[in-house]
Amino acid sequence: MATILITGGTGYIGAHAAAELMAAGWDVVLLDNLRNSTPGVLDRLAALTGKRAPFVQADVRDAAALDQVFAAHRIEAVMHFAGLKSVGQSWQQAALYLDNNVGGTACLVAAMERASVRRLVFSSSATVYGEPDGVPIPESAPLRSTNPYGRSKLLCEDMLRELQGADSRWQVALLRYFTPVGAHPSALLGESPQGVPNNLMPYIAQVAAGLRPELQVFGQDYPTLDGTGVRDYIHVVDLAQGHVAALRYVQQSGKGITVNLGTGQGISVLQMVRAFEAASGRPVALRFVDRRPGDVAACYAATDLAHSALGWRAQLPLSAMCADAWRWQQALAADRAE
Ligand code: NAD
Ligand code: UDP
Repeated sequence: MATILITGGTGYIGAHAAAELMAAGWDVVLLDNLRNSTPGVLDRLAALTGKRAPFVQADVRDAAALDQVFAAHRIEAVMHFAGLKSVGQSWQQAALYLDNNVGGTACLVAAMERASVRRLVFSSSATVYGEPDGVPIPESAPLRSTNPYGRSKLLCEDMLRELQGADSRWQVALLRYFTPVGAHPSALLGESPQGVPNNLMPYIAQVAAGLRPELQVFGQDYPTLDGTGVRDYIHVVDLAQGHVAALRYVQQSGKGITVNLGTGQGISVLQMVRAFEAASGRPVALRFVDRRPGDVAACYAATDLAHSALGWRAQLPLSAMCADAWRWQQALAADRAE
């Protein structure tokens, strides 16, 4: 089978996508600058799949390194995960987010064009919907950004839409992720946030593990079922399988697509806390604090297009997201204890 280049391949979602692609019979080449991941992922991926994926330590803004990768491998398509993803950091380092995320994507696309590889699966985000007019959010909803990270994703989407509109040989899948959580059920792959986690699930996992005293719940007066923020959490393994489905779609149809990857189900912060307590058997202390600036009340996906076009639906329930995140949290603790 053909080879897929995975940028950001040692990162959280990229590594899960690599595992699913390899399980489905594809060869992969991983490229990452290791800014937010470690090479240990490569050993764990090999243990999981029984095969060691070639790895290139390089930045997607390094044109010469990209040319070398395309010269050395018969790349059939690229999955582009490499990017910076912290909303908070993007306010402090807006220029970095433009350079890394938008500049990185432009550099990759130019290298693909030089190599005549014009099939791309891109990691976009529900952040491109900004404060939505309503939920569930269809792909046709207006696009807006509320922070520099979101703007960088929107600019990448614009660039890729432009490219595809101008040259029909390009096939681009823009995948708008809702809120990826969980870990591989083997506990070999997962997310290892550096320092204080920004996101809900890793924060809850650390409270359950006794590493942090309590969860701060950002806001209790949203117009939602219990006043806390509602999100569409999707298991990272389901998300990774959505990438395989999107790749097959562009291969078979010869067309691009813009599609939401979510479950279509909204879960509140308090519902998530209760589900995690049930999965871990540990209490999660919490305290209500002010809303987090820029947060929307509710965000969940319309999933009809993913189902009708890709034949894909998220399968794994909230209990599996929590159980797998907890298993991963325990594996991390065991690693640190060694
Ligand atoms: P991650 O940080 O775990 O993985 C991204 C990887 O890209 C990291 O290993 C990092 O070292 C690498 N990287 C960053 N900039 C690079 C560069 N210039 N050159 C080479 N490698 C580089 O993040 P993730 O959660 O796996 O996210 C993957 C993609 O999905 C990102 O583009 C992110 O914006 C997008 N996304 C993530 C979420 C989420 O909640 N995790 C939601 C929506 C979209
Ligand atoms: N959240 C919270 N406390 C935290 C982290 C997040 O209450 O320590 C809330 C946040 O306000 C939002 C939900 O949990 O309503 C999901 O936040 P996360 O950052 O995980 O995902 P995103 O909002 O980026 O989809």
